[in-house]
Amino acid sequence: PPAALRAPADLFAPARRNSTGFDLSDEQTLARIQAARDVALPDVVPLTVSPPSGTVQDVLNPATGQAIATVTMADAETAARAIDDARPWDAPASERSAVLRRAADLFEENFGPIFGILAREAGKTLADAVAELREAVDFLRYYAAEGEHSRQDPRGIVGAISPWNFPLAIFTGQIAAALIAGNAVIAKPAEATPIIAAYGVKLLHQAGVPLSALQLLPGRGSIVGTALSRDPRVRGVVFTGSTATAQTIAKTMAANLVPGTPLIAETGGLNAMIVDSTALPEQAVRDIVNGAFRSAGQRCSALRCLYVQEDIAPHLIEMIRGAMDELVVGDPWSLETDVGPVIDTGARDDIGGYITANGNRVIHKLDIPAQGTFIPPTMLRVGGIADLEREIFGPVLHVATFRGDRLDQVVADINARGFGLTFGLHTRIDSRVQEVSDAIHVGNIYVNRNQIGAVVGSQPFGGEGLSGTGPKAGGPRYVPRFFAPPAPASAG
Ligand code: GLU
Repeated sequence: PPAALRAPADLFAPARRNSTGFDLSDEQTLARIQAARDVALPDVVPLTVSPPSGTVQDVLNPATGQAIATVTMADAETAARAIDDARPWDAPASERSAVLRRAADLFEENFGPIFGILAREAGKTLADAVAELREAVDFLRYYAAEGEHSRQDPRGIVGAISPWNFPLAIFTGQIAAALIAGNAVIAKPAEATPIIAAYGVKLLHQAGVPLSALQLLPGRGSIVGTALSRDPRVRGVVFTGSTATAQTIAKTMAANLVPGTPLIAETGGLNAMIVDSTALPEQAVRDIVNGAFRSAGQRCSALRCLYVQEDIAPHLIEMIRGAMDELVVGDPWSLETDVGPVIDTGARDDIGGYITANGNRVIHKLDIPAQGTFIPPTMLRVGGIADLEREIFGPVLHVATFRGDRLDQVVADINARGFGLTFGLHTRIDSRVQEVSDAIHVGNIYVNRNQIGAVVGSQPFGGEGLSGTGPKAGGPRYVPRFFAPPAPASAG
C-alpha cells in the first residue's frame, strides 16, 4: 500500500494492544467479583512522603447512601508538604515504561476488588466497570509505549485533578502520561471516589513507582485543587471535570504560576447527534439509547441533544420509547442492570429537579421506584440545542426535529452553542458524512455508531471550545505536553 496507508510497524505490537476485557458470563470471573462484594473497604488517607493531616469524612455508596469507609481530606499544610516532597522520577524512560506496564498487569489481575470498589463507591454497573478497567489498562500500556524511548526532560511537578465519573480510567490516564514523561505527580481524586483512587495508586507503587513521584492527595477542590493550581513549583495541571471548575483553575494558575505552565483540561459537553431520514433506524436507536443512558448519562461524551429529520421523527421517537422501556434501572451488581444510580443525592436532586421543572416537555420517562439516587431515563422535547441551558449530567435525552432542507442550520446551531466534545451522525449519504464532518466543530465525530467509549490509541479523545484545551487523551500528542519545553535558543 502507499506509505500514507501503511500502519507504523509498532502500531499493533503487543505493547500497544488494548486490554481484552473480562467475560462476565464466565463463572470463575463472576465468583471473583462477587467475593469483593462484602469485604470491608479500607479507610483512605493521603499517601504522601511527610505524615498527612486533615479532616475525616465518610465515603458513601451512591446506591444505598451507606458509609462504606472514611477518607482523610488533606488540609493546606499537607498539600504544601506534598509539593515540598515531590521529586521527578529520574529513572530511565525504558524503566518507567516497564513499571507502567507492570502496573497495567496488576490492574488486570486485581479485577475483582476493582469492580467491587467501582460498584460500591461509584455505582458503576458491572458492564461499565469492565469498560472502565479496560480503559485504565489501555492508558497505562499506551502511554508506556508512547514515552518508552523519550530523552526529553520532564516539566517537574504536575498536579492531576480527576473526576468521579471515570474515577479509575481518567485518574490513571492523567497519572500515567505525567509519569512516563518523568514528572512527579500529585493526584487529587474526586471527592466522591477516593477509594478506587487509593487502590490504583497502591498498585502503581507496588509496580515500582516511587512514593515521591506519585502522591495521593484526597481533599476538597477549594483546598487541594487551589494549592496545586497556585503553587509556582507545580509546572503543569491536568484536569477533567466541569467547564466552570476549569475556568477557576485557569484563573488561579494565571495569577500565580510560572508563565507557560500548561493547563490541560477536558471539560463538559452538550453533545448532539443528527439522524437523517436515510439512517438505519434500528441501529440509530441502539446508539441513541447507549449514548444517552449508559453510565446513567454520566459521561462528558454522552448524547444530550438528538436531532431527527422530521419525516422519520414520529416513528424513530416511538422506537426510542420502546427501547427505553427495555432498560433495567437498579442494582449495579445485577448483570441485568443497564442504568445504575447517579453519584450522590446532590446530583439526584439537581437532575430530578430539572426533569420536574421541564415536566411539560417530557416525551417519555421510565417509571421506577423512587429510592436511593436512581433517576428514571427521560426523553424531553426541545426546539434545538440553544434550549439547553447547561449540561445535565444524567440520563436525560433532549430531542429536536429538523426539516431536510435545514441541515446546515442545525450544524450552525450546534457550533454556536460553544461546546465541542462529541458528535454523532447517522446517515447513509456518503457526501453528507464529509460535509457535516468538515463543518462541525468538535473533538470526536462518530458516524453510524454511538458517541461514547472512545478507545485509547484508536480514538484519541478530547474537545474544543468550552469542552477543553486538548491535546486529546489516548492520542500521540498527549504525552509530549508533559515534557519541559525546549530551552529557548540563546540570543546573539
Ligand atoms: N472517554 C469517555 C468516552 O469516550 C468519556 C470521558 C468522560 O466522560 O469524561 O466515553
